[in-house]
Formats: sequence, C-alpha cells, structure tokens
Amino acid sequence: MDKKDYLPIIGLEIHIELKTKSKMFCQCQADFFGKEPNSQVCPVCLGLPGALPVPNKKAVEWTILLAKALNCQINHFSKFDRKHYFYPDLPKGYQISQYDQPIANNGFIKIYYEKGLEKKFRIRRVHLEEDTGKLIHQGEETLIDFNRSGLPLVEIVTEPDFNKSEDVKRFLEELQVIIRYLDVSYADMEKGSMRLEPNISIKKLKTQNLKLKTNEIDNLPSYKVEVKNINSFRFVKQAIDYEVERQIKILEKGEMPKQETRGYDSKKGITYSQRSKEEADDYRYFPEPDIPPMVFSSQEIERTKLPELPYQRYQRYLKNFSLRQQEAFLLTRDKKIADFFEEVNNKFQTQSQKLSLKIDNSSQAIANLIVNKKISLNLDVNQFVNKAITLLLPKKTDKELLKKVINKILTENKKAVSDYQNGKKNALMFLVGQVMRELKGKVEVKEVIEELNIRVRS
Ligand code: ZN
Ligand code: MN
Repeated sequence: MDKKDYLPIIGLEIHIELKTKSKMFCQCQADFFGKEPNSQVCPVCLGLPGALPVPNKKAVEWTILLAKALNCQINHFSKFDRKHYFYPDLPKGYQISQYDQPIANNGFIKIYYEKGLEKKFRIRRVHLEEDTGKLIHQGEETLIDFNRSGLPLVEIVTEPDFNKSEDVKRFLEELQVIIRYLDVSYADMEKGSMRLEPNISIKKLKTQNLKLKTNEIDNLPSYKVEVKNINSFRFVKQAIDYEVERQIKILEKGEMPKQETRGYDSKKGITYSQRSKEEADDYRYFPEPDIPPMVFSSQEIERTKLPELPYQRYQRYLKNFSLRQQEAFLLTRDKKIADFFEEVNNKFQTQSQKLSLKIDNSSQAIANLIVNKKISLNLDVNQFVNKAITLLLPKKTDKELLKKVINKILTENKKAVSDYQNGKKNALMFLVGQVMRELKGKVEVKEVIEELNIRVRS
C-alpha cells in the first residue's frame, strides 16, 4: 500500500464541562467530584415529569466567552432543543442540547509550532448542553450516579480540516490552554471535564478528480468513523493512527469502511466496533418547549471582554522580551507560570539596575531558569530573583581586586558603614551596589556580601 494515495480526513467533537457552581438547569451543586453518589440531585436533573429547567446564566456567559476566544461569530438568536435517545444515564429520554441554532458558529484556532510554522483549523459550531449521569459497572451489575447529570457542557465541533494526528494533538493542547486561561473549566482529560471524539475517514486521492465531476459539492468520503473513550492527548494520536491504518487496509481490499462508532482500548492500542452511527434524524430533535429562546444584542456580545490569550502572550514575549520561540511557547502554556515569569523578570531588571549588573539577554536567562527548573518555582518572587542573581553572575572573582575595591568603598561611605553597624539593613545593600558598580558586575553578589560583612563587623 502506498500511503500517499490516501488522505486522512479528521474532524473533532469536544465536550468541555464548565466549572460553574450550580448545574445547567437546576440549583444543584455542580462540583460532584468525590461526593456520595446521588447526593446532588433534584427533580430537574433526575428528569422527573413536570420539573422545569431554568438555564444557568453563568454557563451561557462562559460559552459566549469561550466561543469568542475561539474566534467564533456569536449568534443573536439561539435556542435549546431536545435530542432524543434512550440510555440509562439519561433519565428524561432526551438531552437538552442545541440543534440548528447554536450559540456560536464559524471560528478557528491557530496552532503554532517552533520555527514560526502556523496552521489554522476551523470550528464549525459551539453549543451548550447538559451532561448525563454516570454508569458504574460492578461485576454483573450497573449502578447509576446522577450527580453529574445536568452539568453544563460546551460542545465544540470542528470542520474536518485535519490530516495528521500531530496537528490534532497540538490543536487540543492549544484548546485546553485557552480554556484554562479563561478559567471556565478544569479541562482535565483524565477526570472527564474535557472529552473528545475524533471522526476519521480516508479520501482516496486517485479517485478525487473523478469524484469531483460526479459530486462537486461533497468531495468528502461517504462514511466516517467516530472514536470514543479517549482520555489523553497521547491516546488521541494513537487512536487516530490506528484508525487510519485500519481504514486504508479495508480500502486496499476494494471495500468501504463501515460508518460506525468505535471505542478505544488504550491497553491494546486498538479501536473496536461499538455501534452503527446514528444520523441526526434518529434523534428526533425538536425545540425545547420549556425554555424560551435566547436573544443576545450586539452590546451584550461586545460586553464580553477577552483576557490576553496564550497566542497573544506568546507573540508579546517574542516581541517585548526577545525570547526564543521555544521558551516563549513553554512559558505561556500555563498562565500562572507566565505571570510568575513576568513578575520575576520585572523585579530582576530593577534589582540588576540597582546593583549595576550587566547580564546579556537577561529576560532570556530568566526564562531559561524557569523553563529548565534551575530554581524551585515554589520560591516567592524575591527569593527567586536573589537566587537568579547569584546564578547568572560571572563566577570567577578576583579576590585581591575585590578587597581593594571594598577598602575604597568603605572609606568613601563612612555614613553607610555606621548606619549598617547601627542595624540599618538597607545600608549593606547600598554598599553592595557601590562595590558591584565599581567592579562592573563582574563578581558574585554572595561574595561581596560575605566580604563586606567580615570587614564592616570587625
Ligand atoms: Zn438538580
Ligand atoms: Mn454533545
């Protein structure tokens, strides 16, 4: 088989559980982790007849915020719909979701690799829905915990723009970082607050032209395979690679892969058939009669302000701090680390100016210390800066010269010396600064302090 004859076509469906205080349509607590099963439920999220859902305002706002961060167009009119299917984790027999009028459409995420390579992947829609209960299998029995039932879920659907599993992985990592910057979800794959289902099909390139003639609108393959139960970015890549191989083998035999939903077995590294895929018609969607449609004015949509997002921050680090792409990228993966870097860097610049230290590319040097964990990130900013100063200074000290300079500074600054002897701690830093300036920073601060201490105390 020649892989060049086949083009993988991959799209994604991602579910993000929002970290609102209460559930999507009732007042129940949303934080279910580690809680006693079925302790956070009410008639609404248990789907009892006659219970009326009331949408969570925060969840709607956060969905708009997230959709804006994904460069989507926010729709002025949006509504909820009932999506029917029967499964024990869904007590109502339908999920409240959104069908033809989602909160947002037509967005994209830009992913960026080192060496300045950037790629853009389109997002088809972003909508809001509710989570289901959780099935717990114990031997022969299956138990149901409804604490998760009715939690707000944002569903993000991409266009089938991906051809490589690497790009899918990078896209998902970028999405996770954006969500965490916005602080609207933990977006944790292992805990299930971020879930994803890739859909994969293979286009035979040789027949592409022929196909275009017969069906100009749709040149995508006539089937797709959706893969579920993937709980890490590494597995998503493995599952896609496995599916691509599997489907190419079927096509090589002159057959067509079946349209179906498959599960992923991470232990065996394979996918397996679960069920044939439903079409939208099977869900018998219709407008949710208990919830009025949502209308958002332009002013309301504009009022939602975005914070600085990881990509913008990355660009700023390249421009303002002249960082290398690698460190700029790694630092901006975690907002807390990026904030820490900026605080340390600011402080470091002031301190080294005071001490007349000359360190080339000092922002890059600080970035390296943080990325390579040369200094514990548990230190506070001041402690970190002090350590950084000792680490970044040139190591060889001319002891004789140091003693000479200290003599000179001590005679020239008698007041500072007596201040320090009288307990003014700042006076020492002043003297250190004078010595550093005289030596043009070519000495370790630690040694200057040691030497000065010996001299001033005697
Ligand atoms: Zn409830
Ligand atoms: Mn969904």
